[in-house]
Amino acid sequence: MQNKHPEKLLDEKGLRVDGRRLDQLRPVRLEVGILDKANGSAYIEQGKNKILAAVYGPREAHPKHIALPDRAVIRCRYHMAPFSVDERKSPAPSRRELELSKVIRESLEPTVLTDLYPRTTIDLFVEILQSDGGSRCAGITAASLALADAGIPMRELVAACAVGKVQGQLALDLSDIEDKQGEADLPVAYMPNSNLVTLLQMDGILTLPEFEKGLNMAIEACKTLHTMQREALKNKYSQIREVAEEKEEPEVIA
Ligand code: ADP
Repeated sequence: MQNKHPEKLLDEKGLRVDGRRLDQLRPVRLEVGILDKANGSAYIEQGKNKILAAVYGPREAHPKHIALPDRAVIRCRYHMAPFSVDERKSPAPSRRELELSKVIRESLEPTVLTDLYPRTTIDLFVEILQSDGGSRCAGITAASLALADAGIPMRELVAACAVGKVQGQLALDLSDIEDKQGEADLPVAYMPNSNLVTLLQMDGILTLPEFEKGLNMAIEACKTLHTMQREALKNKYSQIREVAEEKEEPEVIA
């Protein structure tokens, strides 16, 4: 994490390499229901991250021996496309992708009402088309929307955001260069209504007061993202309603 020759990550005004303030999120764009074939899908752009999430299920478990008698099994695959980073990445799953698949699954499991669907699986795919730091968090934000789009009953949407430390200062939503050259990275996933943290990882070193302040910054950002998620869901259904209303309009006979 620490670089012996870090680039200047903050200018004289305290602004970051992309011009953001320390407490500012990158621009976020969310879209729901963009794939026809999957049961649910969502797309997120957060800064230069471009991520697709898709969901199949709940459907009968195959192979049968993975099925659980009292609830659905959630499976998750986080995958970086070979063209998602500067140097071509091998399409084969790396240790990092296996870890992120596990933490994304674990951050979403608490919200899904899995006991409604015994002996089934819910498959979640998080495909990183372009990566620029914070992809696990952006992936969770999108995957949670894809689950909702699939109509899977959930307690609420999960949103995620990382906080880090650059040049001794806490900074929200690290970009790739800040992640690589900064001093710490604290990804957090959060369910605002239940006030439940479902992912908490830490890389690097923070003092206890920094950790507490950083966690609060991440939680506030998750609340902002949660509002954006709800808007994205509403947008999809208002578009469907507009199309339906257009179809219902009576034909005008000249
Ligand atoms: P996250 O994307 O959740 O921050 P990491 O902290 O492990 O996950 O990775 C930080 C960033 O490092 C990624 O978002 C990506 O931009 C970059 N990165 C990860 N793996 C590779 C790779 N194989 N090649 C180049 N860059 C990578």
